[in-house]
Amino acid sequence: MNEPATILVVEDEEKIASLLRDYLERTGGYQTHWVGRGDEALQVFDEISPDLVLLDLMLPGMNGLDVCKAIRSKSRVPVIMVTALVEEIDRLLGLELGADDYICKPFSPREVVARVKAVLRRAGAFAGELLPPGLQIDESRHTASFNDKQLKLSPVEFALLSRLAANPGQVFSRDQLMNSIYSDYRIVSDRTVDTHVKNLRRKLAETAPGTDLIESVYGVGYRLVT
Ligand code: CA
Repeated sequence: MNEPATILVVEDEEKIASLLRDYLERTGGYQTHWVGRGDEALQVFDEISPDLVLLDLMLPGMNGLDVCKAIRSKSRVPVIMVTALVEEIDRLLGLELGADDYICKPFSPREVVARVKAVLRRAGAFAGELLPPGLQIDESRHTASFNDKQLKLSPVEFALLSRLAANPGQVFSRDQLMNSIYSDYRIVSDRTVDTHVKNLRRKLAETAPGTDLIESVYGVGYRLVT
């Protein structure tokens, strides 16, 4: 039996937060955690590894935009942004923060539960159905396993695997891969990516001999075989 999904509610207005938690727990059957400050959200995020974050835009300590960016820099966990300003949504969309959905205040709690469900379903389909069988990636913990065996990956190898797994089957150029794993990719050569991919492949093959999850596409780059 699956654990109920855990939702991190980042909201400084206590009344709204408790209304949300109440609905999410009773109607949705989720577990919830609440944090009222943006600057505390990241620490709690790391501690509880939520399955989804409901993130208010205006927060004390650190605003929702920066919290969202910080979460995205290390995780692809679904984020739903909550804002009191309808006009903000267009701007937020333009910023490409990587949020999965936006909800406008005032909202009906029922609508929030419906959105949460939809986003989790999408994320679950992504995580479970499209990845090669046996491969599991935990973005929030930066760990991966293959056939139930934990992979001992370096941070760069994990970033590579995570990037490839974001779109299984899609070919990524070396440039794209470098972009996603280094903040300053100009300092590394194509060959560096090849070396990391080679090591990643070796570790996957050691875990499950005879399998090759990463295909090199001649002259283009790499892709994750599905
Ligand atoms: Ca607020």
